[in-house]
Amino acid sequence: MSIKENIEMIQKDIPPYANLIAVSKTRTIDEIKEAYETGVRDFGENKVQELIDKTENLNSDIRWHLIGHLQTNKVKYIVGKVHLIHSLDSIKLLEEIEKRYSIKGINANVLIQINIGREESKTGILVEDLNELLKACEACCNVKVRGLMSIIPKGDDETCRKYFKEMKAISDDIKKVSYKNITMDYLSIGMTGDYKLAILEGSNMIRVGEGIFGKRNYKL
Ligand SMILES: *Cc1c(COP(=O)(O)O)cnc(C)c1O
Repeated sequence: MSIKENIEMIQKDIPPYANLIAVSKTRTIDEIKEAYETGVRDFGENKVQELIDKTENLNSDIRWHLIGHLQTNKVKYIVGKVHLIHSLDSIKLLEEIEKRYSIKGINANVLIQINIGREESKTGILVEDLNELLKACEACCNVKVRGLMSIIPKGDDETCRKYFKEMKAISDDIKKVSYKNITMDYLSIGMTGDYKLAILEGSNMIRVGEGIFGKRNYKL
């Protein structure tokens, strides 16, 4: 199936309120253009350098999502170039984002990434550290938290649903409190293999790579 056909199929599968992010890491400019032609405007990258290169070679109405781990020393390169940072996971990173965005006088929209499966190999904050991070976000001026993101552990449908439910519950709990600078507009969960389950469990932002562009080849 073509990129266009894949996108149309996914769009049929998901409700209108759900935001589809086409994960374009490792993909060429031409492949991204093909997705763009079908109307997709949200694209996700996991590396800062690759994201910046692509912003320079593609239309400026694209909304770029930084979905990969963000090192503090790279924050300065993305200011003003990213629609949404999905990977806030420490107070140190928060402070750097606040500092760099306030210098330019613009706001940073971020999601807090939670390591819901407590996997050593994954970044994201642990649930027990969330409160402290939320408090630190309240003290910011230029950082606006817009929701949560997670990459759940690989597993069968039942385990996936369990993790998605946990994420939804955390999001709902935060919603009950009126925090300064923090809203829960987005729940960014669900990828190629599990986006339908994620939507059933309350996702409104899915990040799909291979389901749109086909298998990735990291060796290219
Ligand atoms: C690569 C990536 C995706 C997309 O994965 P697919 O399985 O290709 O859909 C989603 N989220 C993050 C954070 C990624 O790095």
